[in-house]
Amino acid sequence: MATRVRVALAAGDGIGPEIMDATVHLFQEAGVLNFVDFVPVEMGARVFAAGNTRGMTADAIRIVEDCGILFKGPMETPKGGGGKSINVTARKLWNAYANLRVFKSLPGVQTVYSRAGLAIDMAIVRENIEDTYGGVEHRLSNDMIQCKRLISAPGCDQVSRFAFETARKMGLTKVHCGHKANIMKMTDGLFLERFREAAKAHPEIEIADVIVDALCMNLVVKPQQYQMVVLPNLQGDIVSDLCAGLVGGLGFAPSANIGNHMAIFEAVHGTAPDIAGKGVANPTSLILSGLMMLRHLCLAREAALIENALLATLESGVRTGDFGDPARPPVGTREFTKAIVERLGTTPKSVPAVRVPEAGETCFTKPARPEAQRVIRTFTNVVTHVVGCDVYLDSPLSPASIAEEMQRLSADTPFALTLISNRGTQVWPTGSVFTECVDYYRVRFELRDGVTPGTIDQARAIDLLRNVTAKFIVCSYELLRTFDGAKGFSLAQGQ
Ligand code: NAD
Repeated sequence: MATRVRVALAAGDGIGPEIMDATVHLFQEAGVLNFVDFVPVEMGARVFAAGNTRGMTADAIRIVEDCGILFKGPMETPKGGGGKSINVTARKLWNAYANLRVFKSLPGVQTVYSRAGLAIDMAIVRENIEDTYGGVEHRLSNDMIQCKRLISAPGCDQVSRFAFETARKMGLTKVHCGHKANIMKMTDGLFLERFREAAKAHPEIEIADVIVDALCMNLVVKPQQYQMVVLPNLQGDIVSDLCAGLVGGLGFAPSANIGNHMAIFEAVHGTAPDIAGKGVANPTSLILSGLMMLRHLCLAREAALIENALLATLESGVRTGDFGDPARPPVGTREFTKAIVERLGTTPKSVPAVRVPEAGETCFTKPARPEAQRVIRTFTNVVTHVVGCDVYLDSPLSPASIAEEMQRLSADTPFALTLISNRGTQVWPTGSVFTECVDYYRVRFELRDGVTPGTIDQARAIDLLRNVTAKFIVCSYELLRTFDGAKGFSLAQGQ
């Protein structure tokens, strides 16, 4: 007898409840409820409005963690007021580190590519919790705001391993890494290096890398050259919406957020406030995301039945107002879903049908709840030495005036002033008169000639910092270290 699975279900805001009702109804008609119990949870706008800044009740968190699977509709992000995106919070809170989106041409969904007879079938795997999505931002001076871009080796490892494992299961033969390592040599350099490392466990899969701007152009010009692309978070976010455009828009792109303990399945589009409550929303993206969830639960038979019925419906020309042949009148969400239900058990004619496997059982075993927060590490036993510090100043002075003060303030320390940069460009000891400066400087101190790395500790850098703070506002500070002899910091542009 099949095991029953509990899935936390959050309908979402705006069109969320309409498309979620439609999807659950379709799943019920396809027999999914013989295996799955949907447990409703409260998340989203109403919870924010009640003063809960996380946007999810304590009960919702408990139920989601207990189920291990969340199926969610789109949720509104409060504008301003410090309220964070609940979608990002959910991914980060539950460490759903990989975002998988699959983009396939669909019958009845006209695009530039379908008109040219070009079928699209590719996947994007986006790192889902690091990068600028930490939302670590500070105002550093009157004129400067910073957003920290955090990329960790374990984070890179997790997403690349997931990508290769998924590519293997999907039968793909080539995986690309998209990046901007030519500019962000350390952060994206690490992402690319760990991608190549993870690839070693899958010698059967060919790898290649591509700079993200070239990738965008290639995707528009010749999308069929890609099977799967793995990207850091922000780049992956942008590129995956581009790919949604290739297959007809956000309404046709499903999304799975996968971690070791939790998996979140959601539509890619938002709450569509302009059409909410009108009963005209297109449920396809949520249905396709639900199919990814059913396959995650091993309900491949039910997923195939629904997918074939959906393809047959799209092929027949039945459409909601956001796509399809404008000469044909659109139908509402309910009627669209009814058309799919009526086609359960049929297969599409114009595209290959999905093979319907024998009735199986669910295979989902909820991973054990971790007893404590785990510290994950990639590199251990690394020898590090303090070799200097970068001090960041809020100052409207000129580079030459700052240099004069800094040389005086560091005179009795083991550190010498080696560089001043502004917005990443060197402005002292040499620079261009054309470089315009703003009120925020990086001042770099490095060990004086003759001082051996390893003989100076962080306390000496703090002593120097104390000297500098007597004269300047120090907004932040970074310790400069070597790691197994290699510099753990970048050079300034022009250095
Ligand atoms: P949106 O995706 O909600 O809407 C963009 C356009 O696409 C609108 O014209 C809308 O009517 C249309 N559209 C979207 N989904 C549709 C569907 N299923 N059927 C028919 N038409 C559809 O984007 P937005 O307006 O930028 O965002 C609205 C809200 O959604 C914001 O609060 C945003 O933060 C949130 N949002 C949530 C998620 C999520 O929950 N994962 C994703 C994106 C945006």
